[in-house]
Amino acid sequence: MIGVRQAQQIVLSELPRLPVEHVGLDLAGGRALAAGITSDRDIPPFRNSAMDGYALRSSDLTSPQPTVFEVIETIAAGTVPARRIEPGTAAMIMTGAIVPDGADAVVRVEDTERDGAKVTVLRPVQPGANVRLAGEDIRRGNAVLAAGHSLRPADVGVLASLGVTRVPVARRPTVAILTTGDELVEPDQTVAPGQIVNSNAYTLAAAVQQAGGIPHVLGIVRDVREQTRAAFETAFTYDLVLSTGGVSMGVFDLVREVLASLGVIERFWKVAQKPGKPISFGMRGATPVFGLPGNPVSSLVCFHLYVQPALRAMQGLRELHLPAVRATSTTELRTAAGMTEFVRCLLTGPLDDLRVQPTGTQSSAALRSMSLGDGLLVSPPEQSHIAAGERVTVLLLEQRFTAEAAV
Ligand code: AMP
Ligand code: MG
Repeated sequence: MIGVRQAQQIVLSELPRLPVEHVGLDLAGGRALAAGITSDRDIPPFRNSAMDGYALRSSDLTSPQPTVFEVIETIAAGTVPARRIEPGTAAMIMTGAIVPDGADAVVRVEDTERDGAKVTVLRPVQPGANVRLAGEDIRRGNAVLAAGHSLRPADVGVLASLGVTRVPVARRPTVAILTTGDELVEPDQTVAPGQIVNSNAYTLAAAVQQAGGIPHVLGIVRDVREQTRAAFETAFTYDLVLSTGGVSMGVFDLVREVLASLGVIERFWKVAQKPGKPISFGMRGATPVFGLPGNPVSSLVCFHLYVQPALRAMQGLRELHLPAVRATSTTELRTAAGMTEFVRCLLTGPLDDLRVQPTGTQSSAALRSMSLGDGLLVSPPEQSHIAAGERVTVLLLEQRFTAEAAV
């Protein structure tokens, strides 16, 4: 049986790249930048004042005594200075306004006393004080953002300042979600004895969105060959196909057989991991097809390990995998030998001294173990025991916000 890393490599070696589309700046946040951006300008474009105050020549302020200047104009932000600063003169200037020629510093208004056309400057300033230089943030010709970057708020602002209004991003992948099982009913239906609510479809729809994709929940598929075939045929019109259930050893587990009959080339089935061992992955032409296990925790763990990286790679993102942290286990754990086990866990404590504990029952059917958790503790195949106090690797499922403010 192949291991987790090998399975991830197989998935990532097969994937198509999605075409580029252009979106407005208001909708660019969170999207995958599809082309590198080089600046065609200096930012800031001109030398400007960091303060409300007076622009002057710092060399006019050599004595520690207050010095009187003649105020020759007032420069508002958005206007162009009319005059050059000569010895003994100053211009009142607002934050962001162009620093006039001749001036090499701005004195804060708090350090001055104004009297009609005169201003008294109370203390000396260094050359360059409170002056922002043209191009000090970004220089014309700088490579500013690389292709494959996930756009964050500041990145979008940088694009705006560069005048990039149509942002090239990867098209969002459309994802078909099929859930197989005779026992399934939809959440708004009455649950008869032996039936189970179809939670997987909605868990995965949320996960697809988190990975930048557009989920299409195609509904419940009964464990009947013809129906399973028809459902997958529809699903193949999407960029990526996810199903849950029907990939184990049961007599009603038809998914792999049906996929094979529809031309899906299976690349692997079963990975040495717990939960999620029976996952199957194949390609139908350029369409990746994941047969995820039916158990709710198994399918979601498999999503995080394989589908999320796949959806991100299809968008051209360079960072594909869940981030890992090191933490100290607060409890003793028995884990599966010969398999990578992912224990749903809770992290507590500051980032530089994290403690980790399991969220309770680790049954692959107990989705609350995942809902309570914020990470997956990784127990490698060669380990079947984790001691209390041992340092372990934890995959982060969420950005960790804190209840208490750090500042
Ligand atoms: P299977 O792999 O089809 O044998 O499914 C394994 C178990 O996962 C089943 O016994 C169900 O309890 C559960 N299961 C399967 N599909 C779903 C689903 N869509 N939502 C919630 N639980 C499911
Ligand atoms: Mg089933």
